[in-house]
Amino acid sequence: MKNKSLNLPWAKIDSFVGNHTSPALTVHRPCPICGTLHCRTLLVFDDFQFYSDSEEQPKRAQIREVQCQSCHAVYLNPCYTSSGFGYLFAEAGQSYGSTEGRPQEQINWMGVRGLLDEGKIFLDAGCYDGRFLSGLPKSIRRIGIDIDAPAIVRGQERYGLDGVELIHGAFEAFQCPVEPDVISMFHVLEHLANPVEVLRHLRSISHEETRLIIEVPILEYGKNNDINGFLSAQHMTHFSAHSLGELMSRAGWEVLERQQMSDYDGHRILAKPGGSSIEVMGDVSDRTRVSEYFENWYRNLSEVARKIESWPRTSRMVIWGGGMHSEFLYQVTPLFLQDIQCEYIVVDSDPIKQGKSWRGLSILNPNILKEVEWDDCLLVISSYGGQENIAKAAASMNVPDSVVKRLYDYVTVY
Ligand SMILES: [Zn+2]
Repeated sequence: MKNKSLNLPWAKIDSFVGNHTSPALTVHRPCPICGTLHCRTLLVFDDFQFYSDSEEQPKRAQIREVQCQSCHAVYLNPCYTSSGFGYLFAEAGQSYGSTEGRPQEQINWMGVRGLLDEGKIFLDAGCYDGRFLSGLPKSIRRIGIDIDAPAIVRGQERYGLDGVELIHGAFEAFQCPVEPDVISMFHVLEHLANPVEVLRHLRSISHEETRLIIEVPILEYGKNNDINGFLSAQHMTHFSAHSLGELMSRAGWEVLERQQMSDYDGHRILAKPGGSSIEVMGDVSDRTRVSEYFENWYRNLSEVARKIESWPRTSRMVIWGGGMHSEFLYQVTPLFLQDIQCEYIVVDSDPIKQGKSWRGLSILNPNILKEVEWDDCLLVISSYGGQENIAKAAASMNVPDSVVKRLYDYVTVY
């Protein structure tokens, strides 16, 4: 039974030929907060790969994070087109962050403010398959809108009989059958290419007393120790508390209440229709915040790099995690540059990823770990939030503790 792992499809990094980009994936845009055109580059990844290899579909794009020269807002430019988003994020799983934050806490928060009182008309913008709406009281009318057509169809089958009404459409143009009393957008706005148009549209379908609840992550609380960092490739606008407020007033919403969530990066605001302000006032302190953010991020990268350098050199590695975290591992750490002869396989428990490859490395079901000989091989955990669960799963599959390598000394679990 010696050398069982010879049968596994070990491969060198970047051994897949055929990944490519397309100009149709991205489009340049004005500042999403103030609408001006002048911006300065903060960070570029030239050939960022979105999930698995493909000869047929464009899976690579340049990621360029910029800062507005006028209002100092931080945003992705170019941003993804809607067809580009479809190609690039097809394997991301849930397209919007409805699992971010805590539904029960959000429901309680709205409940104490009377926003879920009997008879209210509630609209969830970015409802995915309607699961959040399904948890709201049945004594209110529950309507959801999302651009993800398959999610809407699944949700209609799952929650339609229960009274949840789901609409498929674009956030800036959809038709709402009735004026909502409450609109929620939990972790949606940061994913949108044109947030001011969306907020204006929401205002146009609202009445005088409609309440809008928005929650986004903000730069002020973006200093974590995850190599993905706050400037996530999934987010098109990287708000600060100030830029979010300016966007709201430009779109005709008056902020009534603000709250920073204490246990995760969520900045929540409650707003009502107000006058629209034409001029956006930037806060130059957002420049300092960006510098502080990068100071923290680069310190994290150097800590992770030192950790990787301290590991024993082996001729093989198994990477547990076939998602975006591994692309960051490729882009911002020396892991794959240490030895170009090193061979890898990737394991991931997500069935969507299994059977495909990423940068030439086969993505397999983690149950193949039983076939790996560990005497000249490491298991690298490529996940932030999932690090400890993966370590436990590896231990349960008898992977020797000495070969299991973590990138993080601690993880802040949301
Ligand atoms: Zn701007």
